Amino acid sequence: MTTIRVENLTKIFKKGKTEVKAVDNISIQIESGMSFGVLGPSGHGKTTFLRLIAGLEEPTSGYIYFDNDVVSSPRRVVMSPEKRGIAMVFQNWALYPNMTVFDNIAFPLKLAKVPKDKIESKVKEVAEELGLSGALNRYPKEISGGQMQRTAIARALVKDPKVLLLDEPFSNLDAQIRESARALVRKIQRERKLTTLIVSHDPADIFAIANKTGVIVHGKFAQIGSPTEVYEYPATDLIARLTGEINLLQAKVMENTAILGNLKIPLNNVELKGMSNIVIGIRPDDLTLSDTLLDKYVDAGIVKVKLVSYGGGIFKIVVSPAADENIDIIVDAEEPLETGIETHLLIKVGKMKIFDQN
Ligand code: ADP
Ligand code: MG
Repeated sequence: MTTIRVENLTKIFKKGKTEVKAVDNISIQIESGMSFGVLGPSGHGKTTFLRLIAGLEEPTSGYIYFDNDVVSSPRRVVMSPEKRGIAMVFQNWALYPNMTVFDNIAFPLKLAKVPKDKIESKVKEVAEELGLSGALNRYPKEISGGQMQRTAIARALVKDPKVLLLDEPFSNLDAQIRESARALVRKIQRERKLTTLIVSHDPADIFAIANKTGVIVHGKFAQIGSPTEVYEYPATDLIARLTGEINLLQAKVMENTAILGNLKIPLNNVELKGMSNIVIGIRPDDLTLSDTLLDKYVDAGIVKVKLVSYGGGIFKIVVSPAADENIDIIVDAEEPLETGIETHLLIKVGKMKIFDQN
């Protein structure tokens, strides 16, 4: 398959007199068969990075290699997108509404002037792989959302690409279909050993598919690691937020304790390096509410239940330190609690993320 290597890649867009550095001197290698996820806020260069790899944009400076071949160099697309062996799936999985599933899947082969009998056998093979054999003669409006999305993937795979490029591929799908779409892309990526680059603002997309992830901020990778590393040990509070739901609480440090209203959070095993003002990051599922201390948790103090909601199979309980109603802390819970009651906020040991504020 293909190893993608990017060297000092920069893309500057000129908008009148102002310059936007969409991609800022990125160097990275994506090993053959690996699945790399790019996570980042909107407008920070994800799509531009992907389009550079695809050959749809020329670099302002820097190089892109596919294995040992230079495919892009400063101000030049050396190898055209069609020759790169890539398949792309974008946000809208749009199918051609006036074409059958068969013709939709066959379209890239027709464009490439592949002989008719070859097209027929190839389309059937991919349709089989994606469980679409029974739907080949239907039109997009006659099939389910799941089948539409599988048709779009089949169309992307029909030319046997070596590299799969996905840009926010699941954003427009219903939540229900989204999960199965992620699972399907993951399965195909692993089975076909496709070198894959997926960009998304949604960590769930990245974590479902990537075995390595980079967080892009202002056109640069702010952190690269396994999905678990980036989720559990985010380098900054911004990355903590981008990788999933998290409480970010401002606190003062006094003798190995974080003070937050009436809450006193022990920081015994945290390296504080002289920090005095910190932001504590705690994910809602690392918190629990209980009147008794539980094993593997520390007691932060008494909080008051403000609001309880339910969604996605869990209760979200918003609490405030009993003495400061302005601070909101979200706690995941399996059972609801009555609003107004007071109880103890417990934090799972080793799960706090500490960020210096000075
Ligand atoms: P993301 O995909 O992370 O939302 P983009 O790569 O689309 O970010 O955009 C990064 C930056 O580059 C933004 O400031 C955007 O406005 C700018 N940009 C992207 N494409 C163009 C373009 N064709 N012309 C001018 N500016 C662009
Ligand atoms: Mg984008």
